[in-house]
Parts: sequence; C-alpha cells; structure tokens
Amino acid sequence: MKIFAVGRNYTEHIAELNNERPDNPVIFTKPETAVIKNGDPFYYPSFSKDIHFELEVVLKIAKNGKNIDQRFASKYYEEIALGIDFTARDLQTSLKTKGLPWDLAKGFDGSAPISDFYDKNQFGDLHNLNFSLKQNGEVKQVGDTKLMLFGFDEIVSFISKYFTLKKGDFIFTGTPKGVGPVAIGDKLEGFINDKKLLNVDIK
Ligand code: MG
Repeated sequence: MKIFAVGRNYTEHIAELNNERPDNPVIFTKPETAVIKNGDPFYYPSFSKDIHFELEVVLKIAKNGKNIDQRFASKYYEEIALGIDFTARDLQTSLKTKGLPWDLAKGFDGSAPISDFYDKNQFGDLHNLNFSLKQNGEVKQVGDTKLMLFGFDEIVSFISKYFTLKKGDFIFTGTPKGVGPVAIGDKLEGFINDKKLLNVDIK
C-alpha cells in the first residue's frame, strides 16, 4: 500500500509558509508505517520539538490504474476520509534549507492518522467540501476544497503518470491555512461539515 501526499495545494497555506505557487502538484510519499487508525494516540517523537498538524482530505484508491485521464479520475476513488499530515516542521525547515528531501520530517512512524472512510457521495459536492480541525475544543483550521489549486481528479491523474495507483492506496490532498504546533496532552478532532470523523490524542 502506498501513501501519497500533496504539498502546497491551498493558496492561503502557501502564503503562510512563504512558498511559491507551483506549476504542478508537489507530491511526496509516506510509508505505510506512518498510518495511525482513528482513535489511536500519536506519540510525540524525541527528534522534534515542533510537530505541526495539517488536516487534509484523504482519498482511497478504488481500483488499479496508470496514466489516468482527468475526465475519468473520479471513478478511481469512491471513499474519502480525513487525515493529519503530521510534520516535524523544525526538521523539515532544516532539510529544505539544505535542499534535501523531506522524508524524515513527513514520513516518520505515526505521521499519518486517518479516520474511517466514507462513501464520497454522502458529503454532497466534493468541490465545495468544508472541513475543520479542533485542538482542545478550539477551531484551528477551516478549509474548503473549492480553494484547492489542484482538485482531486487532477491530483489522481497527475500521480498516475508517474506511479501506478493500486486499490487501497491513499492520497492526502493538501492542507488549508491554520497549521500549528501540537503538545503532549492535546486532543485533535477533525470534521467534514459538522460530522466528526477523526480523533487523535497526543501522548
Ligand atoms: Mg500536508
């Protein structure tokens, strides 16, 4: 099973990190050992002092495909979830400064909590999907898929030019503005519209 993620996919998050708007989606991967299932705790790792949450909509690939035309891409995902792309921001900044790959900062154990998956048709218009993260009961991130630079279909099509997508692969589709640090003892909750999908306690 492969996990893909898209960086810099929401206009305001790009401004937040002083990044440039990309011509193509920025793609990176996480190993399957990054996954935490809904309700399981995240253990703060010793190698970072600045772990950030990034709440993202996650697609589950429903069938194998490569070189998928964007017009047909929606047939390749039937279910969506919410996930957190945990990022060791201090490590990532250090690696980026040196022009080195991000893997250590993005792919470590537990860096990908993912909720249960739900039929994509139950949420209404996927191009106008409101999602939000609460930290200790306070809303910290609010996103809407209408603000994505690259939509779900474009992402699926783009990734499939380089990697064969297989049934069961996951795609994290990018974070909206409002990313921030977590601390031991925090409770994170993720919502699509008003439906709570995700629970992660930081230990
Ligand atoms: Mg992210």
